[in-house]
Amino acid sequence: MATFKDTVEVEIRERRLGSVLNYHGNLSELINKSKKRSICASCSNYEQCGNCGQENAGTLTTWVKDSVVINHSPIGCGLDGIMYAASVRDNAIGQDRRVQRLSTNIQEKDTIYGASRKLEATIDEAVRRFNPKVIFVLSSCVTGIIGDDLESVADEKGAEYGIPVIPIYCEGFKSKMWSSGFDAAYHGILRRIVKAPKKKQEDLVNVFNFCGVDRLADLLAKVGLRTNYATTFATLEGLTELSEAACSVQFCDTLSSYITTALEEKYGVVKIKNAPPFGLKWTDDWLREIGEVTGKQEEVECVIKEEHERILPEIEKYREILKGKKAYIMTGDTFAFQLANVARDLGMEVVGIATLHHDQVPDGDGGRGALEKYKEDHGDFGKVNVCPKQPYQALKLMKEADPDLLICRHAGVENVALRMGIPIVPEGDKNFSIAYDGILKLAKRTVRALKTQLIVKNISAHSKLPYTKWWLEDREDDPYYFESKEA
Ligand code: SF4
Repeated sequence: MATFKDTVEVEIRERRLGSVLNYHGNLSELINKSKKRSICASCSNYEQCGNCGQENAGTLTTWVKDSVVINHSPIGCGLDGIMYAASVRDNAIGQDRRVQRLSTNIQEKDTIYGASRKLEATIDEAVRRFNPKVIFVLSSCVTGIIGDDLESVADEKGAEYGIPVIPIYCEGFKSKMWSSGFDAAYHGILRRIVKAPKKKQEDLVNVFNFCGVDRLADLLAKVGLRTNYATTFATLEGLTELSEAACSVQFCDTLSSYITTALEEKYGVVKIKNAPPFGLKWTDDWLREIGEVTGKQEEVECVIKEEHERILPEIEKYREILKGKKAYIMTGDTFAFQLANVARDLGMEVVGIATLHHDQVPDGDGGRGALEKYKEDHGDFGKVNVCPKQPYQALKLMKEADPDLLICRHAGVENVALRMGIPIVPEGDKNFSIAYDGILKLAKRTVRALKTQLIVKNISAHSKLPYTKWWLEDREDDPYYFESKEA
């Protein structure tokens, strides 16, 4: 069955991919049960915090150059826009792009009379203020409930101004997986921006990344390939040409397996199936597959040889320093295994992996994903947890594993680790650890983090975790106390 359907909304991950928010066990069981979609979709009856898919959809669309993103929502939903405005702005320095976000500021009376007029007025204002090339309209729980007709407004205003106006259906209540917001954004792009290919560009590689800086263009240029980034660094024109590329690569499956699969099925843009390039061998394998698809095998072999000669001596030096250091990894689903692989490459012992959710099956033929590849290269692993950023749970997981450091992508649990006296390597959104240089970068950052041990111990000695004795001591070995067995 085709992954992309020409409907206004894409199916949420729980239904499409059998995604779950809770699991604890070993890797092989996770892989085997996932193949049959047989992991029980239990959930917690207590959650400390959560995210909303609108936030993820907003982040991806905000990156598109000359776009305006409108939160069609009460003003509170737009808070993420302010947060991400700062993040996007920081990452966009030198990229000649601005963050342009507006909110329709839906109020109580609009929930009775409808908010379509407000949306029209906000689109007018967006054009007046910013003269954008494209406008994205993010739906919200309120607009989902009151049933505003976003399609009609988008069609009318798009025709009036001669630019694409694209509704993105990302109501937070629809899905417990905030990564469903990624799919919602990509679905809008697939539906209303990507055009059928005019010609095939055999040296063009689509690169799907979350945000951050470009760490692949130079590497692929050595092979003789050009990059078409989406949605970071993207332009409207670049997005229309996603269908013309030879292949698509991605920062992680969790982010973009939906659009890369859809592009393959609909337009024949090959989705690179090897796990993303995190770690030495994984980067080699990934490059070789790109070489096969683009006919650049010889160039790829030359680049692999050169890169090995360049970085291996340095890696060996870091292996001496980092050998046996115990790392806990806590990030998004497949990304956690990608980082764990780099940590293993550097000689570290991975003592625990916690992912924020887990997609049981990939979109389409996912190929050998990061989880399977990790098991193949390193054997089974007993301490896999799915923990959706819950600090109360994370602290017990880390206490049990007793790591020397935490490698963590999302802020929130970082301060828990510091209060526990564990140094952190904040991976963030900048793709620091990707490809050959990324291995060295993670090594350097880890060495630097380990040097903070003294100050981190000091922080721990002078801070108090905000939990009761009942949770910290009486329930000491039970991070899953609040886990409900009901779906
Ligand atoms: S969950 Fe709903 S109400 Fe909350 S921020 Fe997301 S869209 Fe807005």
